[in-house]
Amino acid sequence: MVVNLCDYAIVMLGPPGSGKGTQVSYLVDLGFHVVSVGDILRSNGDTVIPGLNATVMDAMSSGMLLPDDFICDVVRSDMLNKLSSGDKHIFIFDGFPRTVVQAEYLNAVLKELSIPIKYAFNFDVSDDIVFRRITGRFSCASCGRIYNKFLCNTKIENVCDSCGASEFIFRSDDNEESLKTRLSQYYEKSKPLVSFYQEMGLLFNINASLSSDDVRREIFSKIGIS
Ligand code: AMP
Repeated sequence: MVVNLCDYAIVMLGPPGSGKGTQVSYLVDLGFHVVSVGDILRSNGDTVIPGLNATVMDAMSSGMLLPDDFICDVVRSDMLNKLSSGDKHIFIFDGFPRTVVQAEYLNAVLKELSIPIKYAFNFDVSDDIVFRRITGRFSCASCGRIYNKFLCNTKIENVCDSCGASEFIFRSDDNEESLKTRLSQYYEKSKPLVSFYQEMGLLFNINASLSSDDVRREIFSKIGIS
């Protein structure tokens, strides 16, 4: 596969369960730095991120968005770490920005670093599909492969198809009640970003109800990956 390694950024927009994370996992091997706020918050614990205490974890479990200034600080420090750890400056933002304030912040930081946003992919999918994807979602604790108990379960019960491990992770916010909050936060605070990036001439709508392979083909062809 060939990807043009000039410096730029991609923003992934869409509701929870629209498949952004799955597509990002396909792009990681091509040299993109991934900034995934949810993953940073879940993996680091409060020893690494000051302020990531029980209150923050509770807010995440309930599906509420966290305060903009806190999230912007987390993103900035993650970006600077990644910039200092490699010579490739192609960023994918997964789960950031989620508010117009965050989008304006990202524009300012990227301008400072002379990294333009090239694409804002908007993952378009119905709430019904999101509910089925999220409430059935679990992942392998060892290799991270994502499954769904309704749509694509492990071939052998409780055994990961990829690595054979038998421990799985269920996210505490992947339940019906929290999902309702996450979706209402999405419509109220994140959906306006579709017009924000459309006005910047960067928006590309993706039919995210298609299979992950079809979505991958669409994104790869847009980015120019052969
Ligand atoms: P995610 O893994 O992207 O679904 O994010 C999980 C949770 O982390 C969200 O429901 C929020 O509580 C928090 N979070 C992640 N990204 C953001 C963001 N950009 N702004 C505010 N809160 C966020």
